[in-house]
Amino acid sequence: IFLMMEKLMSNAEYSNSSFGPETVLTHLGRNPSDQNGFVNTPVVRGSTVLFDSHEDLLAGKSPYKYGRHGNPTNDAVKDVITQLECAYDTLLTPSGLSAISTTLLAVAHAGDHVLISDSSYEPTRHFCETVLRANNVDVEYYDPRIGNRISTLIRTNTKAIHTESPGSLTFEVQDLPAIVEARGDRDIAIIADNSWATPLYYKPLEMGADIVIHAGTKMFVGHSDVLFGTISANEKWADKVKATYTALGVCVSPEDSFLVARGLRTLAIRMKEHERRALELAQWLEANPIVEKVFHPALPQHPDHDVFMRDFTGSGSLFGFSLLPAPQNAVSELLNHLRLFGMGYSWGGFESLILPITIKNQRSATKWLEKGNLFRVHVGLEDFDDLKSDLADGFERYKLAADL
Ligand SMILES: *Cc1c(COP(=O)(O)O)cnc(C)c1O
Repeated sequence: IFLMMEKLMSNAEYSNSSFGPETVLTHLGRNPSDQNGFVNTPVVRGSTVLFDSHEDLLAGKSPYKYGRHGNPTNDAVKDVITQLECAYDTLLTPSGLSAISTTLLAVAHAGDHVLISDSSYEPTRHFCETVLRANNVDVEYYDPRIGNRISTLIRTNTKAIHTESPGSLTFEVQDLPAIVEARGDRDIAIIADNSWATPLYYKPLEMGADIVIHAGTKMFVGHSDVLFGTISANEKWADKVKATYTALGVCVSPEDSFLVARGLRTLAIRMKEHERRALELAQWLEANPIVEKVFHPALPQHPDHDVFMRDFTGSGSLFGFSLLPAPQNAVSELLNHLRLFGMGYSWGGFESLILPITIKNQRSATKWLEKGNLFRVHVGLEDFDDLKSDLADGFERYKLAADL
């Protein structure tokens, strides 16, 4: 039965199979009967693939031809993400940023215009400002809350609308269906960075986006030990993106794919726990008088809560909060003596992280007017009371240093 199911689900045509996402995550991308009964698809290392005969070589008659063009360990990951995102095909990249850059290079060329959400991940912006501009692509940033008013920014040479929802650092939720409607039937690729919600909680392709990218580094991997990215496209755009991907020579290590496949097996249960803890921490912060604001779209007070409730089925591990204004030494006091929250970039691992945020050059279409000191937290899998007391102690140090 499992064998049949795996055959069934590894075929993109069967994307309407009745198996739930947890079943896809636990069963797809491995076929024990192909590997002497061992549960997992092994790491297949290799560049060269040998053909049995001259005829086979000429006919290209083998599932794999060369390491860069496909590998069984990599395909295991590809199949799972394609299925979960309801995509036509998925490409694997060595980082989330390379998923974004490869996609933008595939859809926008010299003389074209692209629309980028103002709250996009900062390195996305950096890629646009450097490589895209140097290639004569006209880059324009838009207010993430623009909705259907994006129609006023669309030009005859617009080729891409990049979305990220909720936005990095500031957590605005985008009205993707309104953007899709404004785009109409024009040949403009709507790209969605879906790293925060994962396909478990948000399905941009089903809402009319064309290409979904992931920083697999974050929730897919889940253990802070691999850099990885994915590009999942619908049928209309898959070949175009693949052509650029292939021409650029982008590929990933099967060792990394193995670890991503391993992370994916527990994605659903990890997401549930991260979601529950993040929400609980957000509510706890909201009740603390030293906290000015909490930026979490699942909270009813969030300005985009209605859009979030309409389009998402769950929330992620990451959100922001601001504290009453205080000098930087108070921020240092808070951060320097934390016992559990690590201070570092990235997120998505099993461990909690906190990062002080300043919004300055990362915004041009909107203004960040909040006065308080901004932080971003990734809520990990530690004991919840331990996490709260770590922050509570930090807040006491902050108050003391700021004389609040
Ligand atoms: C981290 C991140 C990326 C980039 O992923 P890397 O693997 O670090 O290149 C892209 N988008 C979002 C939303 C991210 O948080």
